[in-house]
Parts: sequence; structure tokens; C-alpha cells
Amino acid sequence: MPRPRRHLVLASLFLGVGCGALADGRQHDAGGAPCSFTPATDASDLAPGLIVGAEVLLPEGSRAGHGVHVRFNGGLGAVGEFDAVRAALPDAAVLDCRGAAVLSPGFVNAHEHPAYSHAFPDAGLNPGYVHRDEWRLGTDGALPLPIPERIVHAPGDARSAAILLAMELRHLLGGATTIAGPGGLPGVVRNIDRHQRPGDIELYDYEADVEVFPFSFQAVADLREECAGGPAHRFARRTADDLAFMAYVPHVGEGRKASCAARAEVARYLRRVQRRDRRYALVHGVATDRQDYAVMREFDVTLVWSPRSNLALYGETVDIAGALPSGVRIALSTDWSPSGSFHMREEVRCARRAAAAVGAELPADTLWRMSTVHGAYALGLEDRLGAIRPGLLADLVLVAHAGGDPHDAVLTATHREVLAAWIGGRALLLSETLPESLGAGRCVALDGMAPRVCGVLSGFGLSPATFAKHVAGSVPVNDTTRQAPCEPPP
Ligand SMILES: [Zn+2]
Repeated sequence: MPRPRRHLVLASLFLGVGCGALADGRQHDAGGAPCSFTPATDASDLAPGLIVGAEVLLPEGSRAGHGVHVRFNGGLGAVGEFDAVRAALPDAAVLDCRGAAVLSPGFVNAHEHPAYSHAFPDAGLNPGYVHRDEWRLGTDGALPLPIPERIVHAPGDARSAAILLAMELRHLLGGATTIAGPGGLPGVVRNIDRHQRPGDIELYDYEADVEVFPFSFQAVADLREECAGGPAHRFARRTADDLAFMAYVPHVGEGRKASCAARAEVARYLRRVQRRDRRYALVHGVATDRQDYAVMREFDVTLVWSPRSNLALYGETVDIAGALPSGVRIALSTDWSPSGSFHMREEVRCARRAAAAVGAELPADTLWRMSTVHGAYALGLEDRLGAIRPGLLADLVLVAHAGGDPHDAVLTATHREVLAAWIGGRALLLSETLPESLGAGRCVALDGMAPRVCGVLSGFGLSPATFAKHVAGSVPVNDTTRQAPCEPPP
């Protein structure tokens, strides 16, 4: 696995060992490249790390001409005015992109189904469903949608590795350095879920209760009598009583506002959160209303919003015009490729469309917060990731910036504008304008995407050619043409 090699790789990179650094150790490329690179000096026995100079997006606002110290161990060190950071760390390598790039924390995608997110939308996908149970189970005569093949990584299995790698690279290219949900591939994007199987320990960086439907896997059937005016249903199986972790991130109210079952799920969940015994999030919540947002705000419940998947399945999404002014914390997420956005930047695009359709203002810095700090908060990980702050993990994206709103530059970057993406200080994506010595191992070019992929493929026994062969039928790393539609109701 690539991850255990991290420290050795970083130490040698930052010392410029074997990296083909330029003889005078100064400019990497004067020919219009956005950044200049200066290798670390090896004058001391301390691991000096890397200083990145750029416009830096901090939780408190954007800072031009800032420097961020990526420490040798994958954490963030000093953050401050570029010259001051450089003076404090004279031996560090320097990637100076001031005036040409924005540095942001990677997006935290708070809700995904990585094991299934290789699949295209089914031909039967339509926005006519009333509740999740209809497309999952065919309840009430609805057309069930096929559940895609579940891809689980088995060491030595190149096919599963390639398919999951394509899924994670797609999210990384789309700005996400963390995805929460069951499955994935160890050592690439940061995965969050609950360890349950052998192998999970190296897959999940942190644990949270993210996998479950809190009340039932067939809520419509269970609630039928209650919804017909009968007595309140008592659920036999209460996954919500079997929680292990600080953060709980379940599907709740995934159905139209007109769905009694979806409304009943929301009502039960919002009673549960009043225990204030852990971090609560509410995924989808299509059936939530303005009174619910007031309760969620009071009890610190994050709304995890996946507008594309909501619109593609239910023809509606949360009352975003009510949610935004309510002050409820909102985190964006993609859900999964069969009905959701292929990556976070596409989710941002859909969120903008959904907000515009109801006349709601959704500024770039709000969307950026929904994609970073709020996602981390939903997972209870705001002291680990989701922001650029000393002591947090160096999960970063660097994008070219030719002017305009810096948050917007990060939210809308094309693959050609992605200069680098680091996870735990390892640069897994690297523009060809940057020296390969910055990468987390050997960098290779893959078809259809501009930045090179560093230090990843060979660890899974893959070459660009075998990778391409195995992923031929999966959602591509960089092509959203077959993504589910994002069509808000008129
Ligand atoms: Zn989901």
C-alpha cells in the first residue's frame, strides 16, 4: 500500500534527493508557468517541509500573498504572510504561486457510496419517485432501479483497484480530498466510515456512523398504518440505538415533502437529536421544512445536501430558500454516481441552479464553506481537516487563478486549472508545469485528464494501460456527459 511509505517519500522529496532539481536551485520554469519551485536545502538534519505561496482560503477569509507550511509528516505547520513564513523556515522547499493560484482545503464530501459510485445512471432513472423505498424496492408499484455491482477492493485484484481508483481520482480531480461512505480504496482519497471488515482499518482514516438508515430499510411499509391515521408505529429495528461514534450521518427524509413516511422520519430524527449526545447530520432531508431548519439550527444538526440526486429521483430538493436564511449549517455532497453529481464541482453547479430557480442567493464563499468546513463539521472532523489551519492535515488543492473571486476559482476549476492536490502532504495530482519531485512518487499521465497522477497506480499493480482497460465501462475520471440531470422544477 502506498500510505506507509509516506514519510520516507516526503523526506526525500523535500530534500530534493534524486529529483533532478535545477542546478542553481531556483526557478523551475520561467516560461509562463504559474509557480516557481525552490528545492529544500539539506543543511540540517531537520525535515524542512514545503512552503506553498498563493492566495490562501482561510475560514476567516481569503488572504493574498500567504504562505502555508506543509510539514514532512503530512500536517500543516505555519500559516501566514509569505515572507514571514519563509523567513521562519529558511531550509524548506518553496512552491511560490503568488499572483497565479489559489490554495484551498480539499473539499469534504460528507455523503457518498463509494462502492457503487462507478456506475452510470440507469435508463429508468426518473424524477417521479415519492420516497426512497419506491426506487429501491418497487414500493407502491414504482419502477425499481437496479442497484449497481458493489465493488470491494481485494488486495491483488487489479480490476477492483482500477474501478475504485477511477472513482477516487474523479472526486479528487473534482476537488474532494475526503469522501464519507462505505467502501473505497486505501491510500488515495481520505475515506471515512466505520471499520467492520478486515482491511477496513487501512481503508478508513477516521470512523463515523455514516452507513445506515436510522429507522428502517422499508419505512413506507412500516409507516403505512400510521400514515393512514392509525397508531404511531414503533420500529422494531433501531439502528439509531446502535451508534458507536461521535458523528452520526444517516439518510433521513429522503422523499418528497408530500411523503408522509419521509415527514415521519424527519419528525422522529429531530426528536432524537434533542438528546444532544453526539454530532448529528441529516442526509438529503428533501422532506424538511422551515420549522425543521429552526430545530436543526437549535440542536446543531448539519443538513447534508445533494441537490442533483434529489432532483433526479424526486423532482424536488430541500427548501433552500428557507434553509439558507435560517442559519442551519449546510454541507454539500454528491450521494452517488447513479443519481448524483460525478464530483463536488458538479454538485456546486447544481446547487447554484437549484438556488437560482427559487430566487435564493448562494454566494461563492457560502458554497465553498458548504464544501469544506461544513462537511468536516458534519463528520465531527473539523479539528482534523476541512480548513487550512496549523495542526490540521495537509489536504489541499491548488488551482490556477487568473483573477476574479478566489472562492469561485476553486469551485469552478477545470482539470487544466488543477495544479496540485495533496492528501496528508502527499501530492497525488500534479500539473505538468510543476516538477515531478513534488509528487508522491512517480507521476504518470492518464488519458482525458491534465494533471499527472503521482505515487498511486503502481502500488495497485496498475499501469496507465491496464487502468484504462479495467475502467472502460465505469464513470470516467473526467467526463460528466452521462451524469444525472439537474433540473429544478419551474
Ligand atoms: Zn445516499
